[in-house]
Amino acid sequence: MADPARGGGGRCDALIIGGGHNGLVCAAYLAAAGLRVTVLERRSVVGGAAVTEEFHPGFRNSVAAYTVSLLNPKIIRDLDLAAHGLAVVERRAANFLPTADGRYLLTGAGRTAEQVARFSARDAARLPEYGERLEAIADVLRDLVLTTPPNAIEGSWRVVLPELMRAARVGGRLRRLDMSLRRELLALFAMSAGDYLDNWFESDPIKAVYGFDGIVGNYASPYTPGSAYVLLHHVFGEVNGKRGVWGHALGGMGAITQAMAKAAAARGALIRVGTPVREVLVEGEHAVGVVTESGETLRAAAVISNLNPKLLYLNMFAPGALPNEFREHMSHWRCGSGTFRMNVALAELPDFSCLPGKAPADHHTAGIIIAPTLAYMERAYFDARSLGWSRQPIVEMVIPSTLDDSLAPPGQHVASLFCQHVAPQLPGGQSWDAHRDTVADLMIETVNAHAPNFRAAVLGRQIMSPLDLERTFGLVGGDIFHGALSLDQLFSARPMLGYGNYRGPLRGLYMCGAGTHPGGGVTGAPGHNAAREILGDFRHGRLRRVA
Ligand SMILES: Cc1cc2nc3c(=O)[nH]c(=O)nc-3n(C[C@H](O)[C@H](O)[C@H](O)COP(=O)(O)OP(=O)(O)OC[C@H]3O[C@@H](n4cnc5c(N)ncnc54)[C@H](O)[C@@H]3O)c2cc1C
Repeated sequence: MADPARGGGGRCDALIIGGGHNGLVCAAYLAAAGLRVTVLERRSVVGGAAVTEEFHPGFRNSVAAYTVSLLNPKIIRDLDLAAHGLAVVERRAANFLPTADGRYLLTGAGRTAEQVARFSARDAARLPEYGERLEAIADVLRDLVLTTPPNAIEGSWRVVLPELMRAARVGGRLRRLDMSLRRELLALFAMSAGDYLDNWFESDPIKAVYGFDGIVGNYASPYTPGSAYVLLHHVFGEVNGKRGVWGHALGGMGAITQAMAKAAAARGALIRVGTPVREVLVEGEHAVGVVTESGETLRAAAVISNLNPKLLYLNMFAPGALPNEFREHMSHWRCGSGTFRMNVALAELPDFSCLPGKAPADHHTAGIIIAPTLAYMERAYFDARSLGWSRQPIVEMVIPSTLDDSLAPPGQHVASLFCQHVAPQLPGGQSWDAHRDTVADLMIETVNAHAPNFRAAVLGRQIMSPLDLERTFGLVGGDIFHGALSLDQLFSARPMLGYGNYRGPLRGLYMCGAGTHPGGGVTGAPGHNAAREILGDFRHGRLRRVA
């Protein structure tokens, strides 16, 4: 995939474990600065959770991640992803939510207020203020996305001062918010999405549409404190310069990571697929290379992990290589986002009882949310806690073939079903292998209850339980974010206070994946930020290039 002379053979400047999108972004920036970079990916394809595959003859879809918004515009520009084939199109409507009483809410530019007014004139009137306030706060977070969090460290003024300056810069950004917005920011970090939305709105459908963002990948009730932050995490993105909008990468999410791989290769990185890493090599207090599953040893000045921190620190070091307290702390890293993911091949589009028609229409391009109220979402969570899943599960369905005719044969379609709130580990020691199909049937029935032609239209399906997500992608407990986005696992504390600056507990060891700031989603930001820190360490002589 690249010029081996640049990437290096047995020894290079930077070795990246994992070719997820963050590993690729990190590789592209490091290689662009002239480093010899090698990426080692376990699977036969790069991209991690952002890949496109044919899952049924003639039908392709994004296997896991399925919709774009968080991908950072600076990274798109710096890596010239458009020139490497990336094009993102917008949905024609944002969300479509069938309600329990047979009506629906269809949101999107120019239509949300009128639609919400059918349920509550008061809520419709409050929408502009809600949007403006959330946007002002999201703006501050957007600024912080590409910032290395101040690291909480002890030591001499030489090491502490730069961190204090970073903290002051973050404080400076927050000062841009007036006092009332600062209070709201605090609320968003500490409150539940449910309480936050109840303070704004009175009607269920708009609360459900917004509240869904608070439970995506967050195995918690919408009334769990801290879930409001997860809602915020999902609104700081943009598509083609339009803020807060979600879109579709033509060709599926794999188009993003293939473009990133091309960008990294064009800058000289060597990308090796089918090369699982077994162990990080440690000499003294330095990470000096890796050993692959096949027993090959590769050495590098910087060893950079794209993996879930738990996977890295608990599985890839010889006993005694890491400080005990560090290891113990990482063993408590909370993972498991309660996600069940399906792709279905469809003979025809779903014909919704509340908005009939099988011909492609705007609502077919939306994120279709089957979860009419926050109370429904809360029940689904508590059912899953005690039973493993709910008889009334939460399903978001997106039908990308309505925007992209490269995914399915003419007239036919593919749909992504992103189902929330199944137990990452089933109660009573049961295995997901025994229940995968039962739960998949339930998800299809759940959609069928609103679109009665759906079950019969399914020609083929791909099912990924939390266990399958772990086996296929290395997502511990199926966690889509490499670790919960809770206050104790965010910003300087991601993945651990004292290691929030992309550096691990050994010299030469770095992290560049979603388990670092700013967390999960196809953002590219952890990879970008880690590369900046690593290049700084080379520049300041803390790392030495290979001869
Ligand atoms: C079902 C699902 C739906 C999602 N939906 C969306 C969405 O619509 N939009 C969005 O923005 N985000 C979404 N996400 C979240 C997003 O996909 C992830 O947060 C993001 O892909 C993480 O990227 P990463 O590069 O940090 O890690 P990963 O994508 O997890 O990549 C890590 C890589 O490391 C490799 N690896 C693991 N072990 C080894 C080893 N021992 N040796 C070598 N390589 C190894 C893996 O194979 C993988 O390629 C979703 C995730 C999932 C799972």
